[in-house]
Amino acid sequence: ATPMAVMVGTGLGAMNGILFKNAGALEDATKLDVIVFDKTGTLTMGQPKVVEVVSAHGRTTDEVLAVAAAVEKGSDHPLALAILERHGERPTEPVGGFLNIEGKGARAEVGGRTVFIGNRRLMDEERIDLAGLAAEADRLKGAGRTVVHVAENGVPAGLIAIADAPRPSASRTLKALRERGVQVAMLTGDNAGTAKRIAEELGGIDIVLADVLPGQKADKIKELQAQGKRVGMVGDGVNDAPALTQADVGFAIGAGTDVAMESADVVLMKSDPYDVVGAIELSRATLRKMH
Ligand code: ADP
Ligand code: MG
Repeated sequence: ATPMAVMVGTGLGAMNGILFKNAGALEDATKLDVIVFDKTGTLTMGQPKVVEVVSAHGRTTDEVLAVAAAVEKGSDHPLALAILERHGERPTEPVGGFLNIEGKGARAEVGGRTVFIGNRRLMDEERIDLAGLAAEADRLKGAGRTVVHVAENGVPAGLIAIADAPRPSASRTLKALRERGVQVAMLTGDNAGTAKRIAEELGGIDIVLADVLPGQKADKIKELQAQGKRVGMVGDGVNDAPALTQADVGFAIGAGTDVAMESADVVLMKSDPYDVVGAIELSRATLRKMH
């Protein structure tokens, strides 16, 4: 594009809350084959809420919530905050030896018991037999819930089901991109069952990449690029930063973390995923002016 067209394009973007950090991004945004969206905080609001607690045989839901809250006091993960909010002001037992298990959950000693809290993968690694709770876990995942498992001394105590509402414009955004010939993908550390259900709720997603550990997000972008695709990535979290850098064009949600904004080529100041469509329209219009 001519320098003038690029200036006009970036200026128009800025007026609409779409901040192109470099002229290259404005040109590259016309050529994207697929756009990958982080699930939590990008397609969803990123304000998870506890919607159901299930207890194992012989346990109460209050006990499950109390021990979970005790462990999660040591975590700043959004799921931990949801559990603490649900538990409220009630006191919790003293906790020792808190350990964050990246992309999986956490462990700690609570009142002399060893407690693990997190996803199915963590339970499998710790050889915790979910037996009686597996059917309940499947039911909750089928409803699009994120399922947090709680186990004490190797025995499952219960499940905490968490929901995070989609952003109002999420399904419109995906539809508009597909209509413009751009494939859409979802990238998440959440399990495949939950991710698939949310993809359906959003009206369909071409590629669902689930159970992805934080350190693997950038590799997923590389894999798509190795297929010859030019890849855009939209994310909000610290976890998303390497993937935003790896992508041909990285878009950061403005309400997200500073690290994500620094790693991105384009910042969506209104935190509205639909502005990705605006960014592509703008870049296409700018490049048309070049000829
Ligand atoms: P996302 O990609 O959705 O932001 P993360 O990579 O942070 O997710 O975590 C992946 C999964 O690990 C979560 O969906 C959850 O099941 C589990 N997990 C991670 N941290 C915690 C925690 N503190 N408490 C409970 N579960 C956790
Ligand atoms: Mg996120």
